[in-house]
Amino acid sequence: VTTFKDKKVALFGLGGSGLATAQALVAGGAEVVAWDDNPDSVAKAAAAGISTADLRGLDWSAVAAFVLSPGVPLTHPKPHWTVDLAHQAGVEIIGDVELFVRERRVHASDCPFIAITGTNGKSTTTALIAHILRESGRDTQLGGNIGTAVLTLDPPKAGRFYVVECSSYQIDLAPTLESTAGVLLNLTPDHLDRHGTMQHYANIKERLVAGSGTAIVGIDDSFSSLIADRVERAGTRVVRISRRNVLADGFYAEGSRLMRARGGTSSLFTDLDGIQTLRGGHNAQNAAAAIAACLAVGVDEKDIVAGLRSFPGLKHRMQPVGKKGDVVFVNDSKATNADAAAPALSSYDRIYWIAGGLPKEGGITSLAPFFPKIVKAYLIGEAAPAFAATLGEAVPYEISGTLEKAVAHAAADAARDEGGPSAVMLSPACASFDQYKNFEVRGDAFVGHVAALEGVTMLV
Ligand code: ADP
Repeated sequence: VTTFKDKKVALFGLGGSGLATAQALVAGGAEVVAWDDNPDSVAKAAAAGISTADLRGLDWSAVAAFVLSPGVPLTHPKPHWTVDLAHQAGVEIIGDVELFVRERRVHASDCPFIAITGTNGKSTTTALIAHILRESGRDTQLGGNIGTAVLTLDPPKAGRFYVVECSSYQIDLAPTLESTAGVLLNLTPDHLDRHGTMQHYANIKERLVAGSGTAIVGIDDSFSSLIADRVERAGTRVVRISRRNVLADGFYAEGSRLMRARGGTSSLFTDLDGIQTLRGGHNAQNAAAAIAACLAVGVDEKDIVAGLRSFPGLKHRMQPVGKKGDVVFVNDSKATNADAAAPALSSYDRIYWIAGGLPKEGGITSLAPFFPKIVKAYLIGEAAPAFAATLGEAVPYEISGTLEKAVAHAAADAARDEGGPSAVMLSPACASFDQYKNFEVRGDAFVGHVAALEGVTMLV
């Protein structure tokens, strides 16, 4: 990034994206001084050629900008000491998305930029949009909160498309954020530990769509709905999305059917039935938002439909990984608490459910509405006894102990099932740390056990 060429930039937070940001600034000619509370990160940055110094000793009057990495508290529960220093010196505080936005503005405002935010479904929608764009033959860069730091992407140039997932935090640190199309999927209480009140959290998210050429907003919650109205009144083109209600204008879901409404008249845009990677009402919301975003940047309808059909899905999130006859094997390892397991349980009808791990507060009592769809549960890890107590008489279960046993037993039971198509699903509603390093390793282990079964056609 060349926007701070020959200028002094202070940077705090040298984790993955912080280090990438420092390197991008240095490569663009900025004089960077970086620091972190963790001495290991400082040492790593220094080894990578970044100049490091405790920011308390810095001459802040010479600093043009302070770049802050994700994870460092800006306001809540109290600002990090570096934030106080920057404020006292009157230095602007920005994040990597803001650096990207400025770079794009200077060099290539004709490269379409789609920014995505929301409480849930960000990564799925971001990946889906990028997939549709790529399949349609467009030069597409995918990054942001989803994993690849924006400043490590290929640089902006005309005709190149950017699809960037933005956390609230990144939006908060991007005061001049503007995009070709901005997507706000939904807003529910989350991350309030970091952002204080729900209203404050909503105000941050609103800035992403307020700064967009086309604002695509899921209006099924009251905060997002009000945001859509407000942004529209301010003159931005708004496309509304709903998975619950018929709309006069916008895109809405009727079961798996995605409808497009214009001036009170609706027509079928496409039917998601049969697309394994986009099952469930929550994915109807994600798909509708992706459709609207792709239309906003000029993708043909037929290319959009083709992209939806070939979407491979994201790893560990309701990911169909194998098939044997009528049985599909689903890896939903990312579901580390009961709320996160709900969409997967609601998306299938005959479920052989593998659950457990390191339990979280509240257990699985909130999942009781789905119990009638569970043919049998296979419990693993530390949570097994507690989950067994909750399932009680309502759901047949066994305590399998390990994931390997759970997969073998569930697959054998499902193979004997004559009641129709079923799913053997790992949607643990628990953290993984009692048995695995993280949810990714747990999901990969599940895939490995499925692959070792006889007669399974792997989908990954
Ligand atoms: P995020 O990036 O916002 O965390 P993901 O796309 O990674 O979201 O999805 C994580 C989980 O959130 C999914 O496995 C699913 O359980 C749930 N989810 C996905 N999309 C939605 C949605 N539109 N509304 C509610 N929950 C969703």
